[in-house]
Amino acid sequence: MLVKEKLDVLGGTRQVIGDALARLGYDESYYELLKEPLRLLTVRIPVKMDDGKVKVFTGYRAQHNDAVGPTKGGVRFHPDVTADEVKALSMWMSIKCGITNLPYGGGKGGIRCDPRTMSFGELERLSRGYVRAISQVVGPTKDIPAPDVFTNSQIMAWMMDEYSRIREFDSPGFITGKPLVLGGSIGRESSTARGVTIVLKEAAGVLGIPLANARIIIQGFGNAGSYLAKFLHDAGAAIVGISDAVGALYDPNGLDVDSLLDRRDSFGTITNLFPNRITNQELLVQDCDILIPAAIENQITEENAHLIKAKLLVEAANGPTTPGATDILTQRGVMIVPDVLASAGGVVVSYFEWVQNNQGYYWTEDEVNDRLTKILVDAFRSVHDASVAKKADMRLSAYMVGLKRMAEAVRWRGWV
Ligand code: GLU
Repeated sequence: MLVKEKLDVLGGTRQVIGDALARLGYDESYYELLKEPLRLLTVRIPVKMDDGKVKVFTGYRAQHNDAVGPTKGGVRFHPDVTADEVKALSMWMSIKCGITNLPYGGGKGGIRCDPRTMSFGELERLSRGYVRAISQVVGPTKDIPAPDVFTNSQIMAWMMDEYSRIREFDSPGFITGKPLVLGGSIGRESSTARGVTIVLKEAAGVLGIPLANARIIIQGFGNAGSYLAKFLHDAGAAIVGISDAVGALYDPNGLDVDSLLDRRDSFGTITNLFPNRITNQELLVQDCDILIPAAIENQITEENAHLIKAKLLVEAANGPTTPGATDILTQRGVMIVPDVLASAGGVVVSYFEWVQNNQGYYWTEDEVNDRLTKILVDAFRSVHDASVAKKADMRLSAYMVGLKRMAEAVRWRGWV
């Protein structure tokens, strides 16, 4: 059964932050500071809807900690967005930036809305209204937004345009994930999937799983899932399972990835065309070497963790495995590449985009991909080495590596 209730993401995140800081030897005052974002702004955004009525939306922007540098992280548009979720996600961004050594702390934004039911015009007015509401606390040297769940380069373009109007100068470095013609970076759209592929190759190498014949299940066929299917298929792996919001397909002999990619609709839906589909939950427990949840949170729980067949779990989604399931899988010897490491490719290329905007000098695709590979290979190695040296699971180890620099910056600044 799919677990419907929203688990306590903020509580779970605090727990790992507390454990990581304690293992690193920092006293309680560091936890007191880092268990909560420094700032959380809640805004109300009135939007004139197409029927002429005004609807008021609630939005948030959380800034976890700016001791290292400006805060950075996406904005999600989703009906289930809550303040606690945005806070937890801002803390995850701190960890991602820490393990990849970016000069940022974590931030995150969200608006409670369902973009699937809104027109283009309504989305534009909502995006611009959000920027007006948060413009005091964001900016290229303060807090830099980016895409996240259900937001894209068009929404980034409207947001950048609105910010530029408010500040009365062109401000491409205010936001990342922009279209190329507005200062976006080559490679940003596929960067999350490219990053997952890089760390997956490293992890498979450690476990001695040759990628050429690996059997891989990918849950989710959206931006990350579809690029991933392509990259891994091109690397010679057999994609034996994929899924979307409707259902899942599984074939132990490998699916025809190119044809599935061609036939998916603009929301990434494809399984509706196949009567022999199974459910998402059935897919997760099918036979495979590598499982990649690339959809939504809380998919692998204490109820199904003991049924997972994969030897390697690579979390391309944010928060797909609950803390209880992490314990069960770790005890069973399954290697988990945690979300804060596996999905860090997006923010790394966002950083490249911001650097290019600040310099006004743009890189080639090879430059972007080579730099991304170097950063993520180093990040994987430092997290894996720390996990072996400190006998910590990969998630705790990622938090230890990710928090170390922030805690040191806090100490040098004299904040605790
Ligand atoms: N939303 C993405 C993430 O969760 C990217 C954030 C960014 O590029 O700043 O990592």
